[in-house]
Amino acid sequence: MMKYGVNEQGYYGDFGGAYIPEMLYPNVEELRREYNKVLDDPAFKAEFEQLLRDYVGRPSPLYHAKRYSEKYGANIFFKREDLNHTGSHKINNAIGQILLAQRLGKKRIIAETGAGQHGVATATVCALKGIECVVYMGEIDMERQAPNVARMKMLGATVVPATSGSKTLKDATNEALRDWIANPVDTHYIIGSVVGPYPYPDMVAQFQSIISLEAKKQLLEQTGSELPQYVMACVGGGSNAMGMFYHFLDDENVQLVAVEAAGKGVESGHSAATTSLGKEGVLHGSRTILMQTDDGQVVEPYSISAGLDYPGIGPQHAHLYKVNRAKYVSITDDESLQAGLLCCQLEGIIPAIETAHALAQLEKMSFKKDDNVVICLSGRGDKDLNTYIKHFGF
Ligand SMILES: *Cc1c(COP(=O)(O)O)cnc(C)c1O
Repeated sequence: MMKYGVNEQGYYGDFGGAYIPEMLYPNVEELRREYNKVLDDPAFKAEFEQLLRDYVGRPSPLYHAKRYSEKYGANIFFKREDLNHTGSHKINNAIGQILLAQRLGKKRIIAETGAGQHGVATATVCALKGIECVVYMGEIDMERQAPNVARMKMLGATVVPATSGSKTLKDATNEALRDWIANPVDTHYIIGSVVGPYPYPDMVAQFQSIISLEAKKQLLEQTGSELPQYVMACVGGGSNAMGMFYHFLDDENVQLVAVEAAGKGVESGHSAATTSLGKEGVLHGSRTILMQTDDGQVVEPYSISAGLDYPGIGPQHAHLYKVNRAKYVSITDDESLQAGLLCCQLEGIIPAIETAHALAQLEKMSFKKDDNVVICLSGRGDKDLNTYIKHFGF
């Protein structure tokens, strides 16, 4: 086991585990028993690598951003997950899980989605494999994210509205869990980030770890050392950050910086800055840090970026925060939009607003001129065009 990795019981220090209703035990237990066997199987590895190469377009480039480097006085590199098929890192995990599901003999996939990005990634890999796909989505989110609903339908998925409660992500999650309990034998539940009961956080981190595996090789070629001084990424649930950090975790001289969404400001009451505002508790089946009231009710998060609008972080992040292995900071809506625009103007890249949070953190750091800094460019900004237009009035 790696120093910061999961232990036999599914924990990272105080965090992790599987806090689930008894009726889900068989499903989660099957995954726990099988996932490492499948992931270590050479035939699985070969198919995963082949699809990452020929379908996703990996390895994603490590791009030396020259104008950023001049501006911030260090060597800034972008790990280009935005160039992946479907436009972000989410496809890495979706491919890993569909291959796993096939090997477990599953005939049907379910998922829940908030903004629809994970739903689209899941519908994509189900189309690729010809497997039935059902995506649960809050009724209100379906209205707000109509283009992603259309994408999922074009890809052959059934999108089921969650009509209870606040009609958003939380309610979609409940519907998906109910479905999984009713269909334990033939159905696999694809979770889209490093959250949920063990083994999901470890499994998703392993699928996303391709990001740092490639980055190390690329850094060695481009800088002569596989170790940079800083590695940075935005954090919603934390999957692109976990993938970007993974192979650097044991290199303690590499400073890891995780950027959360401050929304309208950490103290504004409209924020998703989990480590600043949260406390320890249980969210979506694992013990972690989450935003909650004194009597343990989950606080509704807010961020302009749908992918960061989540009230917790994955348990491994909670651990890295608590033991101080990574630094957790936050960036407001306005700061992220400015940083997104700067990236367009300096590098000709329109980043996702999630990604722009990580870029904005550069403004707050000071570097030595020989420092090498890697930022995970988690996704492209096409999906966010309307938000950018509304803010800047183009
Ligand atoms: C979904 C998403 C995120 C946030 O999810 P993580 O699991 O924290 O990575 C970040 N960036 C982009 C582009 C996304 O689509």
